[in-house]
Amino acid sequence: MRKQIVAGNWKMNLNQVESLQLIEALKSTKNTSRAEVLVAPNFTALAASVEALKGTNIGVAAQNMHQAECGAFTGEISAQMLLGVGVNSVILGHSERREYFSEYGELLSAKVDAALNHNMQVIFCFGELLDDRESDQHFDVVTEQLTESLFHLPAAAWKNIVLAYEPVWAIGTGMTASPEQAQDMHAFVRKTVADHYDNAVANNCPILYGGSVKPANASLIFSKPDVDGGLIGGAALSADDFTAIINAI
Ligand code: PEP
Repeated sequence: MRKQIVAGNWKMNLNQVESLQLIEALKSTKNTSRAEVLVAPNFTALAASVEALKGTNIGVAAQNMHQAECGAFTGEISAQMLLGVGVNSVILGHSERREYFSEYGELLSAKVDAALNHNMQVIFCFGELLDDRESDQHFDVVTEQLTESLFHLPAAAWKNIVLAYEPVWAIGTGMTASPEQAQDMHAFVRKTVADHYDNAVANNCPILYGGSVKPANASLIFSKPDVDGGLIGGAALSADDFTAIINAI
């Protein structure tokens, strides 16, 4: 059976003290799900978060990383630095990294390679803009994003890839994709992966939905057969809401 995952992307919110407070609140709410649960605090809170979550069923992911091993890249963080503090999952290709930091195709492909070379789990985000959807280009845009950054990988590498479909028009806007829109895209993506590789790769790859998931809409979205969990932004900053979303799987 395919892995189910709920990951909370805390973005540039919560300092270390606040991150630990949220972690304590998460530990005291009852998460009854069999899904893998991850939280992604900012870099300065990663090590303390890993420590605070030891012995729980909640893991820690980074929100980004650099593609080089080490060197003169002021302000950047490498895969081995993440592994050194016990973080072995990383979100790559988030639409905010694409839009504000110009992280696209080839660069993302190098980041994916670097993470996989270190045996890290990659949560790879992709998704169309509102204009793309309104002009009926959304399937083409998503195909291009996957092709540019992931389709150079050998089939075996996909065991560490988690896909996160995040339509940009739904991120932080309160405008969720309908469960049917999410299912249509997820089924399309699974078929695209199957066509490029094979059914085994496609059927084993978790595809998460992200974009204004809340406790009120999570179970309908998660009930769709090709939706294997969620990448949660705003609602992940509340222990009660995040736990309700986890328990909706
Ligand atoms: C995100 O940033 O990945 C996200 C899905 O945010 P939100 O849930 O706030 O739309």
